[in-house]
Amino acid sequence: MDNLHQQTRNGHPHTRDIASLRRYLHEHPELRFEEANTSALVAKMLRDYGISVQEGVGGYGVVGTLKKGRSERAIALRADMDALPLQELNTFSHISKHPGKMHACGHDGHTAMLLGAARRLSQDVDFDGTVHFIFQPAEEGGAGARRMIEDGLFDRFPADAIFGVHNWPGLPAGVFGVRPGPIMASSNSFTATLTGRGAHAAQPHRGADPVVAAAQLTLAWQTILTRNVDANHPAVLSITQIHTGTANNIIPETATISGTVRTFDATTLDLIDDRMSTIARATGDMFGLDVLFALERLYPATINHERETTQAVAAMVSAVGQPNVDRHVTPSFASEDFSYFLQCKPGCYAFLGNGLLASQTTADNDDKAHSRELHSPFYDFNDGILDAGIAYWMSLVRQLLPL
Ligand SMILES: [Zn+2]
Ligand SMILES: [Zn+2]
Repeated sequence: MDNLHQQTRNGHPHTRDIASLRRYLHEHPELRFEEANTSALVAKMLRDYGISVQEGVGGYGVVGTLKKGRSERAIALRADMDALPLQELNTFSHISKHPGKMHACGHDGHTAMLLGAARRLSQDVDFDGTVHFIFQPAEEGGAGARRMIEDGLFDRFPADAIFGVHNWPGLPAGVFGVRPGPIMASSNSFTATLTGRGAHAAQPHRGADPVVAAAQLTLAWQTILTRNVDANHPAVLSITQIHTGTANNIIPETATISGTVRTFDATTLDLIDDRMSTIARATGDMFGLDVLFALERLYPATINHERETTQAVAAMVSAVGQPNVDRHVTPSFASEDFSYFLQCKPGCYAFLGNGLLASQTTADNDDKAHSRELHSPFYDFNDGILDAGIAYWMSLVRQLLPL
Protein backbone atom coordinates (compact mmCIF):
# COMPACT_ATOMS: atom_id res chain seq x y z
CA MET A 1 0.00 0.00 0.00
CA ASP A 2 1.09 3.53 -0.67
CA ASN A 3 2.16 5.78 2.08
CA LEU A 4 -0.65 8.21 1.79
CA HIS A 5 -0.62 10.40 4.72
CA GLN A 6 1.71 10.87 7.63
CA GLN A 7 0.35 10.97 11.14
CA THR A 8 -1.48 14.23 11.55
CA ARG A 9 -2.11 16.45 14.51
CA ASN A 10 -5.82 16.85 13.86
CA GLY A 11 -7.12 13.60 15.30
CA HIS A 12 -6.87 11.49 12.17
CA PRO A 13 -4.09 9.12 13.11
CA HIS A 14 -4.83 6.15 10.88
CA THR A 15 -4.59 7.49 7.36
CA ARG A 16 -1.12 6.31 6.34
CA ASP A 17 -2.39 3.97 3.69
CA ILE A 18 -5.66 3.64 1.83
CA ALA A 19 -6.83 0.51 3.67
CA SER A 20 -6.25 2.06 7.06
CA LEU A 21 -7.85 5.28 5.84
CA ARG A 22 -10.87 3.19 4.80
CA ARG A 23 -11.05 1.59 8.23
CA TYR A 24 -10.67 4.98 9.91
CA LEU A 25 -13.67 6.22 7.91
CA HIS A 26 -15.56 3.05 8.88
CA GLU A 27 -14.89 3.79 12.54
CA HIS A 28 -16.18 7.36 12.19
CA PRO A 29 -19.41 7.23 10.16
CA GLU A 30 -21.51 10.38 9.69
CA LEU A 31 -25.11 10.45 8.51
CA ARG A 32 -26.44 12.45 5.58
CA PHE A 33 -26.25 16.23 6.11
CA GLU A 34 -23.80 15.66 9.00
CA GLU A 35 -20.61 14.77 7.10
CA ALA A 36 -18.60 17.62 8.67
CA ASN A 37 -15.57 15.63 9.82
CA THR A 38 -15.45 13.34 6.80
CA SER A 39 -15.54 16.26 4.38
CA ALA A 40 -12.91 18.17 6.40
CA LEU A 41 -10.63 15.11 6.28
CA VAL A 42 -11.18 14.73 2.53
CA ALA A 43 -10.43 18.42 1.93
CA LYS A 44 -7.28 18.24 4.03
CA MET A 45 -5.96 15.18 2.24
CA LEU A 46 -6.68 16.68 -1.19
CA ARG A 47 -4.79 19.84 -0.18
CA ASP A 48 -1.91 17.70 1.06
CA TYR A 49 -1.70 16.24 -2.46
CA GLY A 50 -1.50 19.78 -3.90
CA ILE A 51 -5.00 19.62 -5.34
CA SER A 52 -7.12 22.77 -5.26
CA VAL A 53 -10.19 22.30 -3.09
CA GLN A 54 -13.64 23.81 -2.85
CA GLU A 55 -15.62 22.89 0.27
CA GLY A 56 -19.28 23.43 1.08
CA VAL A 57 -20.65 22.56 -2.35
CA GLY A 58 -24.30 21.54 -1.81
CA GLY A 59 -23.83 21.08 1.93
CA TYR A 60 -20.75 19.12 2.95
CA GLY A 61 -19.79 18.37 -0.65
CA VAL A 62 -16.09 18.74 -1.53
CA VAL A 63 -14.65 19.17 -5.02
CA GLY A 64 -10.94 18.75 -5.69
CA THR A 65 -9.67 20.01 -9.03
CA LEU A 66 -6.45 18.79 -10.59
CA LYS A 67 -5.33 20.26 -13.90
CA LYS A 68 -2.33 19.08 -15.90
CA GLY A 69 -1.24 20.14 -19.36
CA ARG A 70 -3.18 22.55 -21.58
CA SER A 71 -6.19 20.63 -22.74
CA GLU A 72 -9.66 22.04 -22.02
CA ARG A 73 -11.04 18.52 -21.61
CA ALA A 74 -12.37 17.71 -18.14
CA ILE A 75 -13.93 14.73 -16.43
CA ALA A 76 -15.56 14.29 -13.03
CA LEU A 77 -15.09 11.26 -10.76
CA ARG A 78 -17.52 10.87 -7.90
CA ALA A 79 -17.53 9.20 -4.48
CA ASP A 80 -20.25 9.44 -1.84
CA MET A 81 -19.37 9.91 1.84
CA ASP A 82 -22.42 9.34 4.06
CA ALA A 83 -23.26 6.44 6.38
CA LEU A 84 -26.55 4.89 7.56
CA PRO A 85 -28.59 5.07 10.78
CA LEU A 86 -27.89 1.49 11.82
CA GLN A 87 -26.30 -0.17 14.85
CA GLU A 88 -23.27 -2.10 13.63
CA LEU A 89 -23.11 -5.74 14.79
CA ASN A 90 -19.60 -6.57 13.57
CA THR A 91 -16.95 -7.50 16.11
CA PHE A 92 -13.73 -6.56 14.26
CA SER A 93 -11.44 -3.86 15.56
CA HIS A 94 -12.55 -1.11 13.15
CA ILE A 95 -16.22 -1.29 14.18
CA SER A 96 -18.10 2.04 14.23
CA LYS A 97 -17.32 4.22 17.23
CA HIS A 98 -20.59 6.14 16.72
CA PRO A 99 -23.57 4.29 18.24
CA GLY A 100 -26.47 3.87 15.82
CA LYS A 101 -24.39 4.96 12.80
CA MET A 102 -22.60 2.70 10.37
CA HIS A 103 -20.95 2.59 6.96
CA ALA A 104 -23.21 -0.26 5.83
CA CYS A 105 -23.21 0.79 2.16
CA GLY A 106 -19.45 0.94 1.69
CA HIS A 107 -19.26 4.69 1.06
CA ASP A 108 -16.19 4.60 3.32
CA GLY A 109 -14.57 2.53 0.57
CA HIS A 110 -15.73 4.86 -2.22
CA THR A 111 -14.22 7.85 -0.41
CA ALA A 112 -10.96 6.01 0.27
CA MET A 113 -10.64 4.79 -3.35
CA LEU A 114 -11.16 8.24 -4.82
CA LEU A 115 -8.64 9.76 -2.39
CA GLY A 116 -6.20 7.01 -3.36
CA ALA A 117 -6.68 7.85 -7.02
CA ALA A 118 -6.35 11.60 -6.33
CA ARG A 119 -3.02 11.04 -4.66
CA ARG A 120 -1.67 8.85 -7.45
CA LEU A 121 -2.94 11.17 -10.17
CA SER A 122 -1.47 14.23 -8.47
CA GLN A 123 1.95 12.67 -7.93
CA ASP A 124 2.67 9.76 -10.24
CA VAL A 125 0.55 10.07 -13.36
CA ASP A 126 0.70 12.48 -16.26
CA PHE A 127 -2.37 13.40 -18.25
CA ASP A 128 -3.60 16.38 -20.27
CA GLY A 129 -6.75 18.03 -18.94
CA THR A 130 -8.72 18.50 -15.74
CA VAL A 131 -10.02 15.98 -13.24
CA HIS A 132 -12.70 17.05 -10.75
CA PHE A 133 -12.86 14.76 -7.71
CA ILE A 134 -16.40 15.03 -6.43
CA PHE A 135 -17.00 13.92 -2.84
CA GLN A 136 -20.72 13.95 -2.41
CA PRO A 137 -22.73 14.06 0.82
CA ALA A 138 -26.18 12.67 1.56
CA GLU A 139 -26.55 9.91 -1.03
CA GLU A 140 -28.71 7.82 1.33
CA GLY A 141 -32.08 9.43 0.72
CA GLY A 142 -30.85 13.03 0.89
CA ALA A 143 -30.34 13.65 -2.84
CA GLY A 144 -26.93 15.19 -2.12
CA ALA A 145 -26.11 14.91 -5.84
CA ARG A 146 -29.05 17.17 -6.71
CA ARG A 147 -28.01 19.64 -4.01
CA MET A 148 -24.52 19.85 -5.47
CA ILE A 149 -25.98 20.41 -8.95
CA GLU A 150 -28.33 23.11 -7.59
CA ASP A 151 -25.30 24.71 -5.97
CA GLY A 152 -23.79 25.17 -9.43
CA LEU A 153 -21.56 22.10 -9.50
CA PHE A 154 -21.25 21.82 -13.27
CA ASP A 155 -21.09 25.61 -13.84
CA ARG A 156 -18.30 25.98 -11.32
CA PHE A 157 -16.55 22.74 -12.29
CA PRO A 158 -17.35 22.12 -15.95
CA ALA A 159 -16.91 18.50 -17.01
CA ASP A 160 -17.43 16.65 -20.28
CA ALA A 161 -18.50 13.46 -18.51
CA ILE A 162 -18.96 12.00 -15.05
CA PHE A 163 -18.23 8.55 -13.66
CA GLY A 164 -19.20 6.74 -10.45
CA VAL A 165 -18.59 3.34 -8.84
CA HIS A 166 -20.47 1.44 -6.14
CA ASN A 167 -19.07 -1.60 -4.34
CA TRP A 168 -21.37 -4.53 -5.04
CA PRO A 169 -22.07 -7.64 -2.96
CA GLY A 170 -22.90 -10.62 -5.15
CA LEU A 171 -20.21 -9.85 -7.73
CA PRO A 172 -16.86 -11.56 -7.13
CA ALA A 173 -14.35 -9.32 -5.36
CA GLY A 174 -12.61 -6.97 -7.77
CA VAL A 175 -14.87 -7.77 -10.74
CA PHE A 176 -16.52 -4.78 -12.44
CA GLY A 177 -20.14 -4.96 -13.55
CA VAL A 178 -21.60 -2.40 -15.90
CA ARG A 179 -24.06 -2.00 -18.75
CA PRO A 180 -25.24 0.74 -21.08
CA GLY A 181 -28.74 2.05 -20.40
CA PRO A 182 -30.56 1.55 -17.10
CA ILE A 183 -28.40 0.11 -14.32
CA MET A 184 -30.44 1.18 -11.29
CA ALA A 185 -34.14 1.85 -10.91
CA SER A 186 -36.11 4.92 -9.97
CA SER A 187 -37.33 5.00 -6.39
CA ASN A 188 -40.84 6.24 -5.67
CA SER A 189 -42.86 6.23 -2.50
CA PHE A 190 -46.66 6.11 -2.23
CA THR A 191 -49.33 6.43 0.43
CA ALA A 192 -53.08 5.92 0.24
CA THR A 193 -55.26 7.15 3.08
CA LEU A 194 -58.69 5.52 3.25
CA THR A 195 -61.22 7.39 5.34
CA GLY A 196 -64.46 5.59 6.18
CA ARG A 197 -66.78 5.85 9.15
CA GLY A 198 -65.75 4.34 12.45
CA ALA A 199 -68.25 2.20 14.32
CA HIS A 200 -68.69 -0.48 16.98
CA ALA A 201 -67.24 -3.71 15.61
CA ALA A 202 -70.48 -5.46 16.55
CA GLN A 203 -72.43 -3.14 14.22
CA PRO A 204 -70.38 -2.90 10.99
CA HIS A 205 -73.49 -1.99 8.98
CA ARG A 206 -73.51 1.42 10.70
CA GLY A 207 -69.96 2.23 9.61
CA ALA A 208 -67.82 2.24 6.47
CA ASP A 209 -64.92 -0.13 7.10
CA PRO A 210 -61.48 0.95 5.81
CA VAL A 211 -59.86 -2.36 6.87
CA VAL A 212 -61.66 -4.51 4.32
CA ALA A 213 -61.09 -1.83 1.68
CA ALA A 214 -57.36 -1.72 2.50
CA ALA A 215 -57.15 -5.49 2.05
CA GLN A 216 -58.89 -5.29 -1.33
CA LEU A 217 -56.73 -2.41 -2.49
CA THR A 218 -53.52 -4.21 -1.47
CA LEU A 219 -54.39 -7.14 -3.71
CA ALA A 220 -55.92 -5.14 -6.56
CA TRP A 221 -52.78 -3.02 -6.95
CA GLN A 222 -50.69 -6.15 -7.48
CA THR A 223 -52.62 -6.87 -10.68
CA ILE A 224 -51.13 -3.72 -12.26
CA LEU A 225 -47.81 -5.51 -12.73
CA THR A 226 -49.35 -8.61 -14.28
CA ARG A 227 -52.26 -7.08 -16.25
CA ASN A 228 -51.23 -3.54 -17.22
CA VAL A 229 -47.45 -3.27 -17.41
CA ASP A 230 -45.73 -4.59 -20.55
CA ALA A 231 -43.87 -7.72 -19.43
CA ASN A 232 -40.79 -6.43 -21.25
CA HIS A 233 -40.62 -3.46 -18.83
CA PRO A 234 -39.65 -4.73 -15.40
CA ALA A 235 -41.17 -3.04 -12.36
CA VAL A 236 -41.58 -3.61 -8.62
CA LEU A 237 -44.57 -2.60 -6.52
CA SER A 238 -44.10 -3.42 -2.82
CA ILE A 239 -46.67 -2.55 -0.18
CA THR A 240 -44.63 -2.31 2.98
CA GLN A 241 -46.98 -0.75 5.56
CA ILE A 242 -50.65 -0.96 6.44
CA HIS A 243 -51.66 1.00 9.52
CA THR A 244 -55.11 1.00 10.98
CA GLY A 245 -57.11 0.31 14.10
CA THR A 246 -56.66 0.49 17.86
CA ALA A 247 -58.79 -2.28 19.38
CA ASN A 248 -60.56 -5.54 18.56
CA ASN A 249 -64.02 -4.06 19.08
CA ILE A 250 -63.66 -0.87 17.05
CA ILE A 251 -64.03 -0.42 13.29
CA PRO A 252 -61.47 2.31 12.65
CA GLU A 253 -62.15 5.56 10.87
CA THR A 254 -59.04 5.41 8.65
CA ALA A 255 -56.42 3.10 7.21
CA THR A 256 -53.19 4.03 5.45
CA ILE A 257 -51.27 1.88 2.99
CA SER A 258 -47.78 2.75 1.80
CA GLY A 259 -44.84 1.32 -0.04
CA THR A 260 -42.50 1.73 -2.96
CA VAL A 261 -42.60 1.51 -6.77
CA ARG A 262 -39.43 0.91 -8.82
CA THR A 263 -39.07 1.12 -12.58
CA PHE A 264 -36.32 1.68 -15.13
CA ASP A 265 -38.32 4.03 -17.36
CA ALA A 266 -40.63 6.97 -16.84
CA THR A 267 -43.41 5.67 -19.14
CA THR A 268 -43.88 2.55 -17.00
CA LEU A 269 -43.82 4.67 -13.87
CA ASP A 270 -46.49 7.02 -15.30
CA LEU A 271 -48.66 4.02 -16.14
CA ILE A 272 -48.31 2.50 -12.64
CA ASP A 273 -48.98 5.84 -10.98
CA ASP A 274 -52.12 6.33 -13.07
CA ARG A 275 -53.45 2.80 -12.50
CA MET A 276 -52.77 2.93 -8.74
CA SER A 277 -54.69 6.17 -8.50
CA THR A 278 -57.64 4.84 -10.55
CA ILE A 279 -57.87 1.59 -8.59
CA ALA A 280 -57.61 3.47 -5.27
CA ARG A 281 -60.46 5.81 -6.25
CA ALA A 282 -62.59 2.92 -7.52
CA THR A 283 -62.00 0.94 -4.31
CA GLY A 284 -63.12 3.97 -2.32
CA ASP A 285 -66.32 4.18 -4.40
CA MET A 286 -66.91 0.46 -3.99
CA PHE A 287 -66.78 0.64 -0.18
CA GLY A 288 -68.13 4.17 0.34
CA LEU A 289 -64.83 5.67 1.53
CA ASP A 290 -62.81 8.74 0.69
CA VAL A 291 -59.39 7.85 -0.68
CA LEU A 292 -56.41 10.13 -0.94
CA PHE A 293 -53.58 8.69 -3.05
CA ALA A 294 -50.16 10.24 -3.67
CA LEU A 295 -47.03 8.84 -5.30
CA GLU A 296 -43.87 10.81 -4.62
CA ARG A 297 -41.05 10.50 -7.14
CA LEU A 298 -37.73 10.26 -5.32
CA TYR A 299 -34.54 9.26 -7.19
CA PRO A 300 -34.89 8.85 -10.97
CA ALA A 301 -33.55 5.77 -12.75
CA THR A 302 -29.77 5.68 -13.29
CA ILE A 303 -29.27 5.49 -17.06
CA ASN A 304 -25.76 4.95 -18.39
CA HIS A 305 -24.75 6.66 -21.62
CA GLU A 306 -23.62 4.46 -24.46
CA ARG A 307 -20.32 6.12 -25.37
CA GLU A 308 -19.15 6.72 -21.79
CA THR A 309 -20.01 3.12 -20.87
CA THR A 310 -17.80 1.90 -23.72
CA GLN A 311 -15.04 4.17 -22.42
CA ALA A 312 -15.56 2.88 -18.87
CA VAL A 313 -15.37 -0.74 -20.05
CA ALA A 314 -12.09 -0.05 -21.84
CA ALA A 315 -10.67 1.52 -18.68
CA MET A 316 -11.85 -1.44 -16.57
CA VAL A 317 -10.31 -3.96 -18.97
CA SER A 318 -7.02 -2.10 -18.85
CA ALA A 319 -7.21 -1.92 -15.02
CA VAL A 320 -8.25 -5.48 -14.11
CA GLY A 321 -8.28 -7.50 -17.35
CA GLN A 322 -11.06 -8.71 -19.62
CA PRO A 323 -12.16 -11.71 -17.48
CA ASN A 324 -12.86 -9.37 -14.56
CA VAL A 325 -15.30 -7.12 -16.43
CA ASP A 326 -18.96 -8.07 -16.83
CA ARG A 327 -20.31 -5.62 -19.41
CA HIS A 328 -23.85 -7.01 -19.24
CA VAL A 329 -24.42 -6.93 -15.49
CA THR A 330 -27.99 -7.40 -14.27
CA PRO A 331 -29.45 -4.00 -13.35
CA SER A 332 -30.52 -3.43 -9.74
CA PHE A 333 -33.91 -2.26 -8.48
CA ALA A 334 -32.11 -0.27 -5.81
CA SER A 335 -31.67 3.41 -6.63
CA GLU A 336 -28.89 5.98 -6.64
CA ASP A 337 -28.81 9.74 -6.74
CA PHE A 338 -25.95 9.53 -9.26
CA SER A 339 -28.96 9.48 -11.61
CA TYR A 340 -29.19 13.27 -11.22
CA PHE A 341 -25.62 13.68 -12.46
CA LEU A 342 -26.44 11.52 -15.49
CA GLN A 343 -29.43 13.73 -16.27
CA CYS A 344 -27.00 16.68 -16.58
CA LYS A 345 -23.91 15.06 -18.07
CA PRO A 346 -23.10 11.96 -20.07
CA GLY A 347 -21.42 9.34 -17.95
CA CYS A 348 -21.34 5.86 -16.53
CA TYR A 349 -22.11 4.29 -13.18
CA ALA A 350 -20.62 0.89 -12.45
CA PHE A 351 -20.53 -1.82 -9.80
CA LEU A 352 -17.31 -3.16 -8.30
CA GLY A 353 -17.68 -6.63 -6.78
CA ASN A 354 -17.34 -6.69 -3.00
CA GLY A 355 -17.35 -10.52 -2.96
CA LEU A 356 -19.93 -13.24 -3.42
CA LEU A 357 -22.70 -13.64 -0.87
CA ALA A 358 -22.46 -16.75 1.32
CA SER A 359 -25.60 -18.08 -0.41
CA GLN A 360 -23.87 -17.90 -3.81
CA THR A 361 -20.75 -19.84 -2.95
CA THR A 362 -20.18 -23.52 -3.55
CA ALA A 363 -17.19 -25.71 -2.78
CA ASP A 364 -15.84 -24.80 -6.24
CA ASN A 365 -15.87 -21.07 -5.89
CA ASP A 366 -15.64 -20.59 -2.14
CA ASP A 367 -13.37 -17.58 -1.87
CA LYS A 368 -13.76 -17.38 1.94
CA ALA A 369 -14.19 -13.60 1.78
CA HIS A 370 -17.96 -13.53 1.62
CA SER A 371 -19.71 -10.22 1.43
CA ARG A 372 -22.83 -9.36 3.37
CA GLU A 373 -25.73 -7.52 1.74
CA LEU A 374 -25.61 -3.74 1.48
CA HIS A 375 -27.28 -2.06 4.50
CA SER A 376 -26.74 -5.19 6.66
CA PRO A 377 -25.55 -4.52 10.24
CA PHE A 378 -22.70 -6.93 9.40
CA TYR A 379 -21.59 -5.12 6.24
CA ASP A 380 -17.99 -4.21 5.60
CA PHE A 381 -16.31 -2.81 2.51
CA ASN A 382 -13.74 -5.28 1.21
CA ASP A 383 -10.29 -3.65 1.42
CA GLY A 384 -9.06 -6.21 -1.12
CA ILE A 385 -10.88 -4.30 -3.90
CA LEU A 386 -9.39 -0.86 -3.18
CA ASP A 387 -6.59 -1.37 -5.67
CA ALA A 388 -9.00 -2.35 -8.46
CA GLY A 389 -11.07 0.79 -7.86
CA ILE A 390 -8.01 3.02 -7.83
CA ALA A 391 -6.62 1.35 -10.95
CA TYR A 392 -9.93 1.97 -12.74
CA TRP A 393 -9.98 5.66 -11.85
CA MET A 394 -6.39 6.09 -13.04
CA SER A 395 -6.92 4.20 -16.24
CA LEU A 396 -10.06 6.22 -17.00
CA VAL A 397 -8.13 9.48 -16.59
CA ARG A 398 -5.21 8.27 -18.71
CA GLN A 399 -7.60 7.15 -21.42
CA LEU A 400 -9.93 10.18 -21.51
CA LEU A 401 -7.27 12.81 -20.94
CA PRO A 402 -4.35 11.40 -22.97
CA LEU A 403 -1.05 13.21 -23.31
ZN1 LIG B 1 -26.99 2.54 0.48
ZN1 LIG C 1 -24.52 3.25 -1.44
